[in-house]
Amino acid sequence: MENAKDYAFEVGPIRPPSEAASLLLRVARNCPWNKCKFCGLYQGEKFSIRPKEHVIKDIDSVKGWTDLFKLAEYVDAEERRAMINNLKKELGGDHSWAYSSAYNWYRNGMKSIFLQDSNSLVIKPDDLVDILTHIKKQFPETERITSYARSETVARISGEDMKRIADAGLNRIHIGMETGSDVILKLINKGTTKAKQILAGQKVKAAGIELSEYFMPGLGGNEYSDLNALETADGLNQINPDYIRIRTLAVTDRAALIEDYRQGIFTRTNDTKMVEELLLMIENLKGITSTIVSSDHILNLLPEAEGRLPEDREKLISVLKSYLGLPESEKIIYRIGRRAGAMDRIQDLNDSGSRNYAEELIRQNDINDTNVDAVVDSLMNRFV
Ligand code: SF4
Repeated sequence: MENAKDYAFEVGPIRPPSEAASLLLRVARNCPWNKCKFCGLYQGEKFSIRPKEHVIKDIDSVKGWTDLFKLAEYVDAEERRAMINNLKKELGGDHSWAYSSAYNWYRNGMKSIFLQDSNSLVIKPDDLVDILTHIKKQFPETERITSYARSETVARISGEDMKRIADAGLNRIHIGMETGSDVILKLINKGTTKAKQILAGQKVKAAGIELSEYFMPGLGGNEYSDLNALETADGLNQINPDYIRIRTLAVTDRAALIEDYRQGIFTRTNDTKMVEELLLMIENLKGITSTIVSSDHILNLLPEAEGRLPEDREKLISVLKSYLGLPESEKIIYRIGRRAGAMDRIQDLNDSGSRNYAEELIRQNDINDTNVDAVVDSLMNRFV
C-alpha cells in the first residue's frame, strides 16, 4: 500500500496522438488486462492504481506552477526566481516532472487533460468523480478531459455512475475496439466480446461522453479478413461513435502475436489486403454519423482516407479504390514511399522528389513484389 511519503509526480508512457497538447495526469499505472496478443506496450509492467491523494497532489502541483507562469509574465527576473524557489519549498520533493508537464501545458493553452494510463475507468467511480471534480475546481477553463478505457470495464459501470463521471467533467473516451468479431477477439485474447463492446460504446454515448472507437485492419489475418471488416462494421453501426480511428496492425517483436505468426497460427495481411478490408468495413457502415480518422497514425497507409459519414462516404471509398486500382509496381512505390516517410497521399506518386526518393530506396535495397511485404513489415516496426 502506498502512503503519502511515497508520493512523486508521475507521467505515464502513452497518450493518443490527439492529446499531444494535453496535460497528462496519471491515475493508474500500466494496463490491468495486459494480455492482448497484438499489444506489447506494457509487457512486464505491473498494474496499479495510484492513491487518489497522489493524483490530487499532482493536480495541485500543476496548479501551483501554472499560476506562477501566469504571474511571472508581469515580474522581473529576480522576483521570478524568488517565486520559483518559494514554490519549490512549498511543494517539496522532486518537482522536475511537475514543472515540465505544467510548462508544456501552459504553453499549449491549458485546454485539455488526458488521464493515464490505459484504462482510467477501472478506478472506483467515486474516486474518479473526486479527481474530475478537483480538476474542474483547479482548472475551470479546461475544455476537455479524456481517457482510454476498456469495453469490459465500461460495460460493468452502471449507467448512473457513467452519468456522474460525465457530469464531473470526463467528456471524451477512447476505446480500443480493434474488431467486432468474437472469433478474432478470442484469438487475440482481448478479454471481451462483441456484445460487451456494443454495450460499453452505447453506455458512453448515453452518458453524453464523446466516443472514439479504434478499428484494427489486419487483426484477423488473411483467414478472417472479411469477418473482421463485416463484424466490426456491424458493431460500429450499433454504437455510432463520434470517431472511428483506424490503427493498422503491425506485429512487433514485443507482442505475443509474433509467436502465433512464427508458428503459422496467424497469417499477416499485407498493405493491399488491409486496404481491401478497410474498404469492406466502410462499405458496410450504415446509418451512422461517425467521423473516420486515418491521418492520426503513421501506420495507416492512406491518411487521406478520412471524412464524416454519410456525406464523405463516396470520397472515402474512392481514395481506397484509387489505391487498389494502381498497377502493382505503383503500389510498391507508394508503399515504400509512405513507409519511408516520403509520401502521405496517392498523388505524391506524381511528385518527382517523393517518387525519386522511393524509387531509389527500391533500387538500392533490391525491393520487388516477392520481398516488399517483409520490407514494409520491418519499416513499420520502427514506428511501434
Ligand atoms: S491493447 Fe489496451 S487493453 Fe490490450 S493489453 Fe494493450 S493496453 Fe491493455
